[in-house]
Amino acid sequence: YKILDQSMEKLLIVEELEPLVEDGVRSLLYGTGIDVEIYGKHTGHFSRAYEYTPGMVKEALAEVLGVELSKRERPAHQELKMPPRPPELCPGCSHRHSYYAAVKAARRYARVHKTEAPIFTSDIGCYSLGYGSPFETADYLLSMGSSMGTAGGFARATDQPVIAFIGDSTFYHSGIPGLINNIYHGHNATLVILDNRVTAMTGHQPNPGMTAGQNSFNELSLEKLVAGLGVEFLETSDPTNLKETEDVLYRAISFAGPAVVILRSPCILMENREKRKRAEEIIPYTVLEDQCTGCDICINTFACPAFYRKGDKIAIDAALCAGCGVCAQVCPFGAMVEVS
Ligand code: SF4
Ligand code: SF4
Repeated sequence: YKILDQSMEKLLIVEELEPLVEDGVRSLLYGTGIDVEIYGKHTGHFSRAYEYTPGMVKEALAEVLGVELSKRERPAHQELKMPPRPPELCPGCSHRHSYYAAVKAARRYARVHKTEAPIFTSDIGCYSLGYGSPFETADYLLSMGSSMGTAGGFARATDQPVIAFIGDSTFYHSGIPGLINNIYHGHNATLVILDNRVTAMTGHQPNPGMTAGQNSFNELSLEKLVAGLGVEFLETSDPTNLKETEDVLYRAISFAGPAVVILRSPCILMENREKRKRAEEIIPYTVLEDQCTGCDICINTFACPAFYRKGDKIAIDAALCAGCGVCAQVCPFGAMVEVS
């Protein structure tokens, strides 16, 4: 505040996301008589979206200072046509396996029962990334802990199958009331708890479903907790087994009333870190070129980020592959195998 005085003519505020500092400075100066021109988001010099690049800041500065940038000085981002790179689940992430099975189960249900496409609600965690292609398993995401409550609403208001996804940490944090509400009202919704044994998105913090290192906390059983609430359909599956998981989810969607499925498989980053500590080898997968038909089924339905296109076939980047081995269940031609 002290640096804002009459000697200053212009002030450019560079802050990503919401204009908190900009609003604060404008409020501080209100009624002080200090006449500084303030530039930032409210003047259209910056966006609420994106991480800022040096080029963006340079452009905004030039405009505020009235400096004309030459073609050479203009930031490169204006010239580059970069392909979009949306955030995605890690290679080997168990959420990818869960979503692959869920999409197959939901499509099977819609085909057999001739219903409309299912509605997927989601929650806050790594698994929110299911919104993207090829899974599109987040039609609606309102706030932390909302997936189960909103699923109940959709189940009441539509005839479509409704499937909610919530992570283990979020379920313990704020998902339980939504499940209670579904049970109380008998909503016809499938509630999937994606239990990757940790609070992954924010940096692998513990949650009540796991023991934490040397600490002797009382680990809460998800199964006992859900069963104790009176859920009649409750099954657990390991999503690295795609067919078994698809069948469990199909039974859950077919159940009349609230059904809960726990899909349990540890976060691959945590699992591989533990393997490295034990000096266990992580063996990547590869594509047998002569067996790959170039059908693109793996890319179009599973889309592990370790896949890449090699001519008219698919290959696996060994540096990215986490060695989970699940892609071998996706390729119908047996082309994906462990590196020998
Ligand atoms: S699914 Fe198998 S055969 Fe088809 S492109 Fe992928 S690796 Fe090749
Ligand atoms: S084994 Fe297959 S699915 Fe797993 S990380 Fe490697 S390429 Fe991806």
